Amino acid sequence: MKHLSYKNKSLQFNGADLATIAKKHRTPFFLYSEETLVGNYQEFAKGAQAAGLIDPLVCFALKSNPNRELLRTLAAQGSGADIVSGGELRRALEAGIPPEKIVFSGVGKTEEEILFALKAAKKGIFSFNVESIEELDLINSCARRLRKRARICFRLNPVVKPKTHKFISTGNKTHKFGLLEADILTAVRSPRFWTNSQLVGLSVHIGSQLLDLGATRRGIARLCEVALKTNIQLEFLDVGGGLGVDYDPEDSQKLPAVADYMALVAATVEKHFNSRSLYRPRIVFEPGRRIVARAGILVMKVLRNKVSEDNHFVIVDGGMNDFMRPSLYGAYHALLPVKQAKADRTCHVVGPICETSDCFGSDRQLPAMKSGDLIVLCDTGAYGYSMGSNYNLRGRPKEILMNRKKKLRIVNQAQPYEELL
Ligand SMILES: *Cc1c(COP(=O)(O)O)cnc(C)c1O
Repeated sequence: MKHLSYKNKSLQFNGADLATIAKKHRTPFFLYSEETLVGNYQEFAKGAQAAGLIDPLVCFALKSNPNRELLRTLAAQGSGADIVSGGELRRALEAGIPPEKIVFSGVGKTEEEILFALKAAKKGIFSFNVESIEELDLINSCARRLRKRARICFRLNPVVKPKTHKFISTGNKTHKFGLLEADILTAVRSPRFWTNSQLVGLSVHIGSQLLDLGATRRGIARLCEVALKTNIQLEFLDVGGGLGVDYDPEDSQKLPAVADYMALVAATVEKHFNSRSLYRPRIVFEPGRRIVARAGILVMKVLRNKVSEDNHFVIVDGGMNDFMRPSLYGAYHALLPVKQAKADRTCHVVGPICETSDCFGSDRQLPAMKSGDLIVLCDTGAYGYSMGSNYNLRGRPKEILMNRKKKLRIVNQAQPYEELL
């Protein structure tokens, strides 16, 4: 990991000494690197261009990390936003992301949220990624009330057909996301939905933390097929997010490079779409994790050790309320001691929350650590703070941003107890 390395046996984050930083800030805290964030965004945006995609639009998925300063940084780089609530829409606008670069996803948009999005700018937002026919109906009637035109994109549920694939992945049709092809095509041909709406795109998002591009390719291929069947010249195709991260070094081999992903998107669209049509749609992306996961760490302190026969527990001051992924998905995240020493102990690193699942790592090889020693949970920039909670009446942790000149700035204060009441 190039942003995390040891110097004089002390862990450095983008060249800054973590022990020194932790002297000034109470643990646990999130620390983000602007350099890594911008680097990841640029790799993505430039990768899309290098693959020959025309005017690609990268809409950062806010749910992965909605921190204001990180968003301002991304906005300055030209990023758009993929949002899933009125709160996220407000946050994106506040951070300076223009409405014409905002896509609104999610199965449960409320009338209030739809009206707010329509009013966000003269022409409204870039698109409503519509997930049901009732939603389409509601958006159209909201737009009529406001005397506006809503820009609509259908989210396709790209069910794999049994004749091409023996095994239908279970839950495809029982999945709450997206619309089936037939329902999209029926809606396209029903004039009553389009009095104040216009179909401008189609989207697909097949999942997250994808390391195998096979399913991505099949999803995009289906997207192209359905787009052609609409017989409408669509402005764009939105290929969603989902590109994974090698949280576990064992996944490094499998991890698709951004350049390969972009080449696959370009080739799939070319193959299925452009050969049968003269126009070329713009390609929209909705990455979250790939942009921000690596840009953040969670710095924690060891509270104490506890031994239950052959189980050695290292109890730290961060918990599953600060970072949910290990307890929620059994996700692997590397743990690094700030003081480098021989890793001669097998331990479970656990938090203070009263849940057995409050464990950041089982059977990890770590050096002996004592009360007050610092430990870092790696790659916590995505789905970290945003999924956090006040469980066990614990305040939310501080967030610190290291800018490109290695200056630190608190971008979110630790939540005071008074706010919890
Ligand atoms: C969560 C989500 C994303 C982002 O997914 P990542 O795996 O973080 O890239 C993009 N689009 C939609 C519709 C989502 O729900």
